[in-house]
Amino acid sequence: MSSSLGVACQQAGRMMRRAAAAGGRRRPPLATAAPARRALAAAAAPRARAVLVAPAAAAASAPTTPTTAALIDGKKIAADIRQEIAAEVARLKAATGGRAPGLAVVLVGERKDSQAYVRSKKKACAEVGFDSYGADLPESATEAEVLAAVAGFNADPRVHGVLVQLPLPARIDERRVLDAVSVKKDVDGFHPSNIGALAMRGREPLFVPCTPKGCIELLERSGVAIKGRTAVVVGRSNIVGLPAALLLQNRDATVTVVHSRTPDAAAVCRGADIVVAACGRAEMVTGDWIKPGAVVIDVGINAVDDSTKKAGHRLVGDVEFASAAAKASMITPVPGGVGPMTIAMLLRNTLEGAKREFSEEGLKLE
Ligand code: NAP
Repeated sequence: MSSSLGVACQQAGRMMRRAAAAGGRRRPPLATAAPARRALAAAAAPRARAVLVAPAAAAASAPTTPTTAALIDGKKIAADIRQEIAAEVARLKAATGGRAPGLAVVLVGERKDSQAYVRSKKKACAEVGFDSYGADLPESATEAEVLAAVAGFNADPRVHGVLVQLPLPARIDERRVLDAVSVKKDVDGFHPSNIGALAMRGREPLFVPCTPKGCIELLERSGVAIKGRTAVVVGRSNIVGLPAALLLQNRDATVTVVHSRTPDAAAVCRGADIVVAACGRAEMVTGDWIKPGAVVIDVGINAVDDSTKKAGHRLVGDVEFASAAAKASMITPVPGGVGPMTIAMLLRNTLEGAKREFSEEGLKLE
């Protein structure tokens, strides 16, 4: 896949079509439900039922109501990370005589959504002081031309991360193009070598996929203890579920992965201290799945019909927010939870790639 964000947006599109086909089977808007409002209020004053919160964070928590979760504010955390990256880029430039991390995006065709994603990535790069590069190829581009663009960026020393914006035109072999991205510039972290290293003890991947990396960052920055906890990941995709499970296990959680063939995923989930929902099914994980006090990370981005919205739809997660927030100690909202973290982690990966490259060149980074 291109960037994880691109994957999410394509899936949102798919869900929108599915939702349209499903007609009015969706539940009423949860964003206006009382538990959600209480959860928003709780975000300003996180509470003591956060049983998984590490001691320092727990001590800082002010007890409020025992019935709703504290919100994990991905928008704020992602903004903080972007600021940290910008500061680090400034230091890096000062230390290396003006060298900046560089991100390159290969775009094929004129799809408006793909163009918008590429623009937003370039904007994010500019905001933190990265250089960005692009190969905008026509819809008629051949596979050889796309591969040549990837090869050009692989060889370009100014470029530390290469993304291929998906979808590619159907006649182009997506897998062949993605496999052509240098493992050293694979800032999406999808290369089999990077996933393999993530799965093996004693190995370090060069890059970790952005969305699951963002989930872990949300937990850690929210003071959630992972070590020794039980975690359930709902979904086993290569880009979210699998790497999320590996990352949790690497942090000494005891991890179970449930998927579409799991007989009673809800029962398994009810045993979890930490739930990461990445099943691509709008609001599938309800409060019934959640152990009281668990921490819930909702990766899902699904568009469902909503005639009250100008666009005719609204975004919901894979978790039914209101019922889950009534059971959990902490929960991410959708939008504003995992979503903003994906691009922040893409920037982080690119920065890490640049630092590694500069170090290999023998540059002093401090
Ligand atoms: P995916 O490739 O469709 O994978 C979905 C996974 O969920 C599969 O492993 C599937 O099981 C499992 N699943 C489906 N139905 C299930 C059920 N009834 N019970 C248990 N498991 C079930 O989706 P993905 O790419 O991983 O994305 C997951 C979600 O994250 C989507 O909502 C997507 O929009 C979102 N996403 C968000 C971001 C972001 O930046 N926030 C980035 C990427 C994705 P099988 O393997 O058995 O089919």
